[in-house]
Amino acid sequence: MGQKVAIWLLNDLRLHDHPALQAALRTHPQEMLFVYVWGPPAVAWGRYSYPPALPQRFPRASVPRQRFILESLLDLAHRVHLVLLEGEPQEVLPAWAAAQSLSAVYATREWAPEEAAYQQAVAQALAARGISFHTEEGNALYRQSQLPFPVENLPLLFTRFRQLVERTVSVLPPLPVPPALPSSPSTETLRLLQEKLAPLPPYASQSFPFKGGETAGQKWVRTYFEGPVFTYKQTRNSFYGETFSSHFSPWLAVGCLSPRWVYAQLREAEKKKGANDSTYWLFFELLWREYFRWLALRWGKKLFAAGGLRDLRLPWRHDEQLFTAWIEGQTGYPIVDAAMRELKTTGWTSNRARQIVASFLTKNLFLDWRWGASYFEVQLIDYDVYSNWGNWLYQAGVGTDGRGFRWFDPVRQAKLYDPEGHFIRMWIPELRSLSAPRVYMPEPSLRAKLGYPEPIVAWQASLSYAKDTYWRAVKGEPKGNQLLRLFQDEEE
Ligand SMILES: Cc1cc2nc3c(=O)[nH]c(=O)nc-3n(C[C@H](O)[C@H](O)[C@H](O)COP(=O)(O)OP(=O)(O)OC[C@H]3O[C@@H](n4cnc5c(N)ncnc54)[C@H](O)[C@@H]3O)c2cc1C
Repeated sequence: MGQKVAIWLLNDLRLHDHPALQAALRTHPQEMLFVYVWGPPAVAWGRYSYPPALPQRFPRASVPRQRFILESLLDLAHRVHLVLLEGEPQEVLPAWAAAQSLSAVYATREWAPEEAAYQQAVAQALAARGISFHTEEGNALYRQSQLPFPVENLPLLFTRFRQLVERTVSVLPPLPVPPALPSSPSTETLRLLQEKLAPLPPYASQSFPFKGGETAGQKWVRTYFEGPVFTYKQTRNSFYGETFSSHFSPWLAVGCLSPRWVYAQLREAEKKKGANDSTYWLFFELLWREYFRWLALRWGKKLFAAGGLRDLRLPWRHDEQLFTAWIEGQTGYPIVDAAMRELKTTGWTSNRARQIVASFLTKNLFLDWRWGASYFEVQLIDYDVYSNWGNWLYQAGVGTDGRGFRWFDPVRQAKLYDPEGHFIRMWIPELRSLSAPRVYMPEPSLRAKLGYPEPIVAWQASLSYAKDTYWRAVKGEPKGNQLLRLFQDEEE
C-alpha cells in the first residue's frame, strides 16, 4: 500500500485492455507513472539490436512512424503522468526508476529476440537497484495458456492453426479502462512531446489520414464498423481509398488498439447489422496477425535467418543497384513502382501491394529477402516485428507457406486490382498520359519518351531462374524437415 510504480510502455500505448496496467493497479499504488524510452528498440538502433541487414544506412523509424508514435504518446500524456526518457532503456530507465524511488515496474511481455533482450537487461538493472520488474501478456487475441497446444507444437501451416483455435478457443473480453488512476498529466511532458512533433513534416497529402493515439484509433474502428467492414471481403485487395481495408494496422502495431477490443467491437457490429463473409474475413486477418506472434515465440531467431524456418540454402543476390531501383520505385514494372513510391512517401501500402513487391524482390530480383524485410522495418508506419518478418518469410518461400514458391505477375495483378490504372497514374506521374491496359506495362518505344525506365529484369527469365534455383534448394534438402512436401508452383 502506498507505493509508487511505473508502466514501461513500448507497443502498448493505451489504457484499455492493458493487463500489465491492471496488474500494477492490483497492488494499490499511491502513484503511477508511465514511461516511454525514445530510443531502441522502437525508434533507434542500440546495444541489443541486430545490425540491420541493409546495404545502406537508414534511420530506424521513418518520419510517419515517429509522428504516429509521438501522437500516440501525446494522447496518453493528456490523461496520465507520462515521462519521456531518451537513450538505452537498460541505462536510463533503472536510473530514473531509482531516482523516483519506485518499488516496481510493469510492462507488456515481448518475445521477439531484440525486444526480449531489452526487457531482460532492464529487469536485471532494476533488480540490482532493488526494484522489481513484472511482465504480462497483452497485444494478442489469446493468452498462451488458451492455445490448444503447447507452443512448441504450433502448426506449421496457418490453416491448421486457424482451424484449431477457431474450434476450441474463445477470445476473452477486453479489460476495461481503469475508472481512476493515481496519475495526473505532466505539463512538462506535454511540452516535450509537442516540441518533438513540431519539426516533423505532416503525413503526406496522399496518405490515409492517420492520427496516432488510442482515442483516434477507437474512433476510427467505430466508424469502420458502422459500414465499410460489411464489404471488406470484396474490397480488401484494392490499392487505394480510405475504406477498402481497415487501416487499423498502425494502431495495432503500437498498441493503441488491443486486438481483443477490436474483436469485441466487431462482434457488436455483427449483432447490430448481421454477420457476413466480410466481418468473418476481418477476424480471419486478425488471426494471421495472431499466428505470426506465436510463430515468433516458437521459432525465435530463425525468423531472421537467411534460410528461414527451413534452413534453405538459397544463393540470394546482394546487388545494391537492383535494390535501390526497388526502393525508389524505378524497376520499370508500374504496379511495383507505384507501391514502392507510395511506401516511401507515406510509410504505408496495401496488403496486396506488399505481396506484389515482396514477390518481385524475391522471385524476380532474387535479392536477399532480409533486405526487403529490413527496408519495410524502417519504412512502415505500422511496422510490427512479428507480422513483418513472418510475412516476409512466407513471401520468400522460407517460412510456413505450404505452397513454397509463391509468385505474383505484376501485370495480371494490376489488371485485376487496378483495372483503370488509377493507382499507377497516381504514383507514377511519368505514366499519367497512359490509360489501361497500356499503363500496366508500357511498350519500350514509349518509355524513353515518357522518362520511365526499361524493366530492370526480364520477367520470364528472372522467374524461371528463381523457380529453378528454389526447387533445386528444396529437393537438395534431404529429410527430417517437416515443412518439405511436394509443393505446387503457381501464381497467387
Ligand atoms: C511483406 C509483408 C510485410 C508486412 N509487414 C507488416 C507489418 O510490419 N505490420 C503489420 O501490421 N502488417 C504487416 N503486413 C500485413 C498486412 O499487409 C498489413 O497488416 C495490412 O496491409 C494493414 O492494412 P489494414 O490495417 O488495412 O489491414 P486489413 O486488411 O484491414 O486487416 C485487418 C488487420 O488484420 C491484420 N492483418 C491483415 N493482413 C495480415 C497479414 N498478412 N499478416 C498479419 N496481419 C495481418 C492487421 O493487423 C490488419 O490491421 C505485411 C504483409 C506483407 C505481405
